[in-house]
Amino acid sequence: MAASSPLMDTYGPQPLTISHGDGVWLFDTEGRRYLDGLSGIAVNTLGHNHPKLVAALREQVARVIHTSNLHAYPLRERLAQMLVDRSAMTNVFFCNSGLEANEAAIKIARKYGHDRGIDRPEIVVCEKAFHGRSLATLSATGNPKVQKGFEPLVEGFVRVALDDMDGLRRIAAERPGVTAVFLEAIQGEGGIRPAHLEYLRQVRRLCDERGWLLMIDEVQCGTGRTGKWFAHQWAGIVPDVMPLAKGLASGVPIGAVVAHGAAASVFGQGNHGSTFGGNPLAMRAGVTTIEVMEAEGLLANAAEVGEHLMASLRTELAGPGLVEVRGRGLMIGVELDRPCGELVGLCLAKGLVVNVTADSVIRLLPPLIFTREHADQLVGILAPLVREFLSRTPVAAA
Ligand SMILES: *Cc1c(COP(=O)(O)O)cnc(C)c1O
Repeated sequence: MAASSPLMDTYGPQPLTISHGDGVWLFDTEGRRYLDGLSGIAVNTLGHNHPKLVAALREQVARVIHTSNLHAYPLRERLAQMLVDRSAMTNVFFCNSGLEANEAAIKIARKYGHDRGIDRPEIVVCEKAFHGRSLATLSATGNPKVQKGFEPLVEGFVRVALDDMDGLRRIAAERPGVTAVFLEAIQGEGGIRPAHLEYLRQVRRLCDERGWLLMIDEVQCGTGRTGKWFAHQWAGIVPDVMPLAKGLASGVPIGAVVAHGAAASVFGQGNHGSTFGGNPLAMRAGVTTIEVMEAEGLLANAAEVGEHLMASLRTELAGPGLVEVRGRGLMIGVELDRPCGELVGLCLAKGLVVNVTADSVIRLLPPLIFTREHADQLVGILAPLVREFLSRTPVAAA
């Protein structure tokens, strides 16, 4: 981007200038076509310009875009009910982004503590977690790069490694102020790291024993991406609090925090709010996203195409340099044994959009309309580039 850009320089070079999208494809301003293996970071659930979503949004824009939360709008309750039905949880608060949903979760955990006489409630969070970039959510995040320069951090977070049940039990024994455990069912920014399902079940049991809230950040892994509505459902558990955002409205900004049991009535009138949260445009996009996912069988598709994609990647990339292909459904990480950020540009040059996170993990988050053929096209571009990259790059490269 030119030094004279009026945008703040927060994102680094942007090597692709997008003109428009169509299904699983993006087009640049010179008419070149790219297979979208990223969905705007797990956002474009239905791909680009899905005809049903476009029609619904057109109709909604012409009807009403925004009403305040001082007035009811039936679609708000409709989308809330859809989330409640699919999560087996009970109540929803709408906001506009992932960090906002997480901020609401953090406030619920704190007030839940205060309501029980705990003056300085603490929340257990994980190493390598990512929860957002507001002050509270960057404090909950387990990545010093996200925090650096913004101290003093918000206090009240205690950190433990993901999957470390002993560490969590130690915290339980030592810290009476804990009121919640907050974790991603599959860490996204941290490198596509799924929590073990048995660990999730044990955390659920410990939370029940201690009266802690289990808060599962499904901002990235939720809304069908893994082949179930919510990634924690693979473990057969129900959390107390579940923040959602990214893919929930297929591209229209939205956030939601879904709560269950005691957590669902922690907020009373005046405890939380959002001007834009629950606006009709986002609600229409959310309702339509879920309707289309069901009509087109996109949960089963995500599971099946994801399995196929992971199996092909394992076959094509087996050998030195590959650490692991992991993930669930269409949330996939390919970890290499060396930093591989340059693959993003190499893929773009061959017409494929992917991302690299945690330095050495190629992250694939394609739209849930991806077919086996699209998956084969993706592997056909990515695998030779990765093999070529591994053959000429020293392991210790920076
Ligand atoms: C992206 C993300 C967030 C932050 O969402 P924003 O909409 O960027 O604020 C929070 N948690 C997880 C797990 C995420 O992947």
